Amino acid sequence: MGEFSLELNDEQLQLQEWVHQFAEDVIRPAAEEWDEREEFPFPIVEQAAEIGLYSWEFLANGMLGDKTGLTIPVAIEELFWGDAGIGMAIMGSGLAASGIAAAGTQEQLMEWVPQCYGEPGNLALGAFCASEPDAGSDVAGYRTRAVYDEATDEWVLDGTKAWITNGGLADVHVVVAVVDPELKSRGHASFVVPPNTPGLSQGQKYKKHGIRASHTAEVVLDGVRVPGSCLLGGKEKLDERLARVREGKPGNAQAAMQTFEATRPAVGAQAVGVARAAYEYALDYAKERQAFGRPIIMNQGISFMLADMATEIDAARMLVWRAAWLSKQQGFRNAEGSMAKLKAGRVATWVTERAIQILGGYGYVREYPVERWHRDAKIHDIFEGTEQIQQLVISRAISGMRIE
Ligand SMILES: Cc1cc2nc3c(=O)[nH]c(=O)nc-3n(C[C@H](O)[C@H](O)[C@H](O)COP(=O)(O)OP(=O)(O)OC[C@H]3O[C@@H](n4cnc5c(N)ncnc54)[C@H](O)[C@@H]3O)c2cc1C
Repeated sequence: MGEFSLELNDEQLQLQEWVHQFAEDVIRPAAEEWDEREEFPFPIVEQAAEIGLYSWEFLANGMLGDKTGLTIPVAIEELFWGDAGIGMAIMGSGLAASGIAAAGTQEQLMEWVPQCYGEPGNLALGAFCASEPDAGSDVAGYRTRAVYDEATDEWVLDGTKAWITNGGLADVHVVVAVVDPELKSRGHASFVVPPNTPGLSQGQKYKKHGIRASHTAEVVLDGVRVPGSCLLGGKEKLDERLARVREGKPGNAQAAMQTFEATRPAVGAQAVGVARAAYEYALDYAKERQAFGRPIIMNQGISFMLADMATEIDAARMLVWRAAWLSKQQGFRNAEGSMAKLKAGRVATWVTERAIQILGGYGYVREYPVERWHRDAKIHDIFEGTEQIQQLVISRAISGMRIE
């Protein structure tokens, strides 16, 4: 195992500074407007593409060229410090890219991941479509079907996906579908639906509590036909896997678990970014705001709150960094990725609520950013595995038992 270090290397420090500048100069000033408009912030994402922040190369360099695992969490924390909704608009295509990387061949990766981003002046978006109206946490309940048409070597997809980031707006949709209903969650496969494929449409667009600059919508698949080459991983591998499952042989559940554990620190880093934004703002405010003839921070009731906020944020970041480092060492033992995501989500929700308290009435109005950060924070307890699903994963890992 490589050494774990809390010290960022020169490249990571430069990257941190670079993303921070973009977050401060471009994202922060735009945050309120796009939250109110509740629309995908194309001009801001375009600017991110122009500097190379919204690009598949950025993701690839951060993931492949880094042994410490800390590069991506460091960048994401700064981005989400700027604004979580715009941050999600910039990171959302990464969900599709990760889905392709997790299940696809090298060839599929090279073909489709760049198409999830496009290029400056001609942006593209990706969407990862797993959740359904009647099945979010319970993935065994997915109903979207994929049926193979041997005559044409095509797959036909039918169903409705819910809560999809960039859903319907995206150029490339990665869809998880049921190929063998009898095998429940082990009978799934992932497919790429290429741009402009007939039969794929956007259903309702959700009006959300937070991260409102990120587009979230239903995706309806009605007789969508994709070529056999769009099955991620290929048919031979799928047939082999399904045969193994039917024979009752252990599948690759362990590998899938490692993949999830590896992506969770990134979500934790988002939450840390939102929490830090609110904490910094509240700290400054508490030093300025006068009540009873002195700055409110002179009261322990306020300063102790800020002390706890600072401590909790650091604790969350430590768990995120530990998990990110472990993911590079293939070293997860006790669901450390889930621990990081669970803790960071809770910390963001709690810290942003405390920040409202510290600002008093000013915390509660839209003229100040704190209420927005509180709305934005909550999503981190919900998506990419709810609080309770993280607890389930952790309790199974620590007990070795199949806790339901
Ligand atoms: C803004 C936003 C963006 C999203 N983006 C995407 C996306 O891009 N792609 C995608 O596929 N999905 C996406 N999702 C979906 C998200 O991952 C799901 O909402 C989430 O997994 C929870 O599923 P659910 O909403 O169906 O809740 P449910 O699974 O119905 O859960 C409801 C409640 O029951 C609890 N619960 C469920 N099962 C258990 C259990 N066994 N033990 C204890 N408690 C349990 C949950 O923790 C939760 O509190 C997004 C959601 C939102 C809100």
